[in-house]
Amino acid sequence: MTRPIIEARGVHKHFGALHVLKGVDLVVAERELVFVIGPSGSGKSTLLRCLNRLEEPSAGSIVVDGIDLLDRRTDINAARRRIGMVFQGFNLYPHMTALGNVTLALRKVLGLPRAEAEARGRAALERVHLADRADHYPGQLSGGQQQRVAIARAIALEPRVMLFDEPTSALDPELVGGVLAVMRELREDGMTMVVVSHEMGFARAAADRVLFMADGMVVEEGTPGEIFGAPRHERTRTFISQIE
Ligand code: ADP
Ligand code: MG
Repeated sequence: MTRPIIEARGVHKHFGALHVLKGVDLVVAERELVFVIGPSGSGKSTLLRCLNRLEEPSAGSIVVDGIDLLDRRTDINAARRRIGMVFQGFNLYPHMTALGNVTLALRKVLGLPRAEAEARGRAALERVHLADRADHYPGQLSGGQQQRVAIARAIALEPRVMLFDEPTSALDPELVGGVLAVMRELREDGMTMVVVSHEMGFARAAADRVLFMADGMVVEEGTPGEIFGAPRHERTRTFISQIE
């Protein structure tokens, strides 16, 4: 196996007295798509947020693309550029166009000149099939289009891995398919991805591996066929029977 893109070992997270992650291991190989499922409050978002240091783990080790995220000497902003993140709420700037949102970090973080940032931004919008919406403001776009702009904003930085935290949960049902289609194309282009989502159809079709989390622990993991078809643990069975 090539070096994993993500190697998280024994990750713990406490919020005061609340022990939210209780020794989670997550190893993701290059080009792998790993799905994380589990009940609300099980620690899925906290785990993703630890993977790009939006939260600081209380214990454990996290290495992303060879960079030790918990080493004090690590330039965390440089490391974060390798990790794209897409949230449930798209967090676009309402007063900036789609292209403006996508190019902002290219200009401010990478320091690219305007012309180069715009060329890269347009290419990213093309990949999410929104080239013709570059000059629209978020308020003029559907939720699904806004989420695709958020994906374009992340991929424009050319990350090594993309983290998705319930990317379709805030969308009307008819808009979900377009976002999942873009995610599937990214996967086909070889992007390494960790996806927290309840879209089980997508998980079955696109995931290499599924982790079921409960109470801050990975209860079991396996292929989609194993987890959905023959879960070994009662908690997994109960959860899957509730969402399908
Ligand atoms: P999930 O994404 O699986 O629904 P979360 O990771 O969001 O779970 O939350 C796990 C637990 O951690 C929940 O009990 C939540 O209330 C708690 N939690 C999350 N973030 C914070 C925070 N910043 N401060 C205190 N508690 C938090
Ligand atoms: Mg969550």
